[in-house]
This record gives sequence, structure tokens and C-alpha cells, in this order.
Amino acid sequence: MKTSAVPLQAAGTAGSRIRLADGRVLIDGIASWWTACHGYNHPHIAEAVRRQLSVMPHVMFGGLVHEPALRLAERLAALLPGDLERVFFSDSGSVSVEVAIKMAMQYWLNRDVRTRHKLLAFRGGYHGDTLATMAVCDPEEGMHSLFAGVLPQHHVVPLPRCPEGAASFDRFLSQHAAGIAAILVEPLVQGAGGMVFHQPEVLRHLRAAADRHGLLLILDEVFTGFGRTGTMFACEQAGIVPDIVTLSKALTGGTLGLAATVARRHVFEAFWSDDPMHALMHGPTFMANPLACAAALASLDLFETEDRLGQVAAIERQLMHELEPCRALPGVRDVRVLGAIGVVQLDQPPADLNGLKHHLVERGVWVRPFRDIVYLTPSFTIAPDDLSQLTRAIHDVLAQSS
Ligand code: PLP
Repeated sequence: MKTSAVPLQAAGTAGSRIRLADGRVLIDGIASWWTACHGYNHPHIAEAVRRQLSVMPHVMFGGLVHEPALRLAERLAALLPGDLERVFFSDSGSVSVEVAIKMAMQYWLNRDVRTRHKLLAFRGGYHGDTLATMAVCDPEEGMHSLFAGVLPQHHVVPLPRCPEGAASFDRFLSQHAAGIAAILVEPLVQGAGGMVFHQPEVLRHLRAAADRHGLLLILDEVFTGFGRTGTMFACEQAGIVPDIVTLSKALTGGTLGLAATVARRHVFEAFWSDDPMHALMHGPTFMANPLACAAALASLDLFETEDRLGQVAAIERQLMHELEPCRALPGVRDVRVLGAIGVVQLDQPPADLNGLKHHLVERGVWVRPFRDIVYLTPSFTIAPDDLSQLTRAIHDVLAQSS
């Protein structure tokens, strides 16, 4: 391993800063993979977790329920659009998508339809690291491409971004719909697959296509949920209601692992039966962990008491203004911003990616470029001066390396 690829040792976090064991302090540009939306160590979340720790850190969620989970389910249902009201808790984004896939397949099996078991997902998509979710990531470009030939085969097609794309997508669906359980898409932003944005019209097209063919529509909001794109959930910008939505990452404000797969009433009803075989058999040991639920409830409080979406709008404006000069740098292909996501895309992956990361750390910032992408997804509470230091560091390091 080259020296520059050795992980740095983190010793503490506060606000938008990570303190390293060697005493250096970095301004964090990615909020620990987009989770720490309120910054690190928010006292309101810390206090809620401490309180829960003294009452009931964990209890199994089979045959038992508890107040933090019940309240969280109620609050999520109230925040989500339409009749998305049935909440299944798990512990990571991958598992929430895994559960959504299983739910969609079983939705049809429970209705005695045995042919609809494939997922229709999209090129450039990323949905997680478990075997089922790897099978619906981009098989060619993505980080799991090594496994492409050995995973279950689903349909992974281009996202219908333009009228011609929409027409060819519709033709594809007409031919294959009878074997498809659900359409699965990351709304507005394909994140870990390359930080590529699409318009709300694309989601409206997918909703209409799913309705036409009687398919379920699953939105993976693991990245976009809880304000990242400027609205609480990305689907709000398209004015659509998916049949199933997956949530994680910022659900607990980035403090503890928790995820939710939320289904509409009609999906739930396909499982509500006296036949025990119709139940959704999935029970992760730490599902609905009370500490994580308490953190999530406290995180939702903060969206109500502090102006998070206003902060996202301000970050969006600042990123647009301050990343724009990168466009003029040699080797830069595109600069794009949506909500609290800022992306500088290069013509090609840098020859020395680790070197680039190293230079950013030397500038006192924590930014993790991947492939041809240098991106910022800061906490929503980041101070404007700190954000400026991040954008300046990206500009200067790219200028030096071009
Ligand atoms: N879905 C999306 C859209 C994601 O961005 C991610 C993680 O980056 C996942 C699923 C997987 O989540 P986790 O890493 O918590 O398993």
C-alpha cells in the first residue's frame, strides 16, 4: 500500500470538523458519507441518546415494540407524501434496499403472480453492498462490476433523461414488464455511482410508466432523504408518491446505524393475511434499536426547530457561486450543484487519486474524490467561511494538478 493510501486516524469530531490523532484538524466536506446533516456531536441528539441509554439501550423487536420506534414510524409517515405509512426498520441503507427488493418480489408472490421477480434499475445507479443490492447497481461502471457475471440478473437500463430515451425506455418496458416486479431508482441524484443529476420529469415519467404496467416504483432516498437535495425528500420535487421508499444515512443525523423501508398501504395489504407464508420474513437482530430511534427522533426535532432547509438553500447558492470558477480549469468537464451537493467532474480520473486526496488533507480539508468526481456534501450547519475554505481548496488543488 502506498503511504498516501493509509487511512488517517480520527480522534474526535465537532460541528464540521474532524480532529486527527496527530492533532491536525480538518474541515469536513462530506459529512461522513452524507450522514451528519446537523454537524457532528449535536447536543440535542447526544442528550436524547444518553436519556435512552439509561432507560432501554436495546430490546428485541419481534413480539415487542417500543415507544421510540412507534413515535418514529408515526413521524416518518407524517413527513412522507401520500399514504407511505408502513415502516419497516433495519440497520443500514443496503439492508433497507434489500428489504424493498424482497418486499416487491413477495408482493407479487403473495398475489400468486410468480413471473414478476426482476427489478428494473438504472445505469449509474448505486444501491448498496449486499449481494441483492449489488445486483441492481450499474454492472459495468460501478464499484461492483467485478461481480457482474455471477449475480442474479435484473434489468439495468439507461435512465430516460430525454424524449428519445423515454421512448426507448417505454419500448423496453412494453416488452419486459410482465417479468418485472418493480422499478428502482435514486431520485434526482445517482450518488455513489457518479453524482449525476436528473430532472424531476424523469421521476414523473417512471411513475407514469409503472402505473401503466401495474409495477411498483421504489425510490432509494438513502442519499437524498432528509434535505440533501433542498426538500425533505427528493420525490417532493417531482410531486410523485413511490410505492416504497428507502431511508437511512441522515435519518439519525449521522450518529447511529438505522434505516427504514416505508411502504404504501396497498403494498402492506398484500402482506396482511392469516397465511403465515404471506408475512415478510425479515428480522435483523438490531432492527429498530431504541438508541438509534431516539437519535432519529431528535434529528427530526432539529429539522423542525432549526432552519435546515433554509441552510441547504444557502449552501446551494454558495456552492454555485464558489465552485463555478473550477469550470475554467484544464481537465474539468463539468460543475454541478443541487441542494447541498456540489460536484466537479474531471475529463478523466486523475493519474494519482491518492496524491490528490493527500493534497486536500494538506490544505486542511476532508474531501474524498472518487473516479473522475470531486464532490462536497457538507453538513447543513457548516459555516460559510468553512465552506469557502473547502471550495478554495478544491479549486487550488485541481489547478495545481492540471
Ligand atoms: N442506497 C444509496 C442511494 C446509497 O447512497 C447508499 C450508500 O451510499 C446505499 C444505498 C447503501 O447504504 P449503506 O452504506 O448504509 O449500506
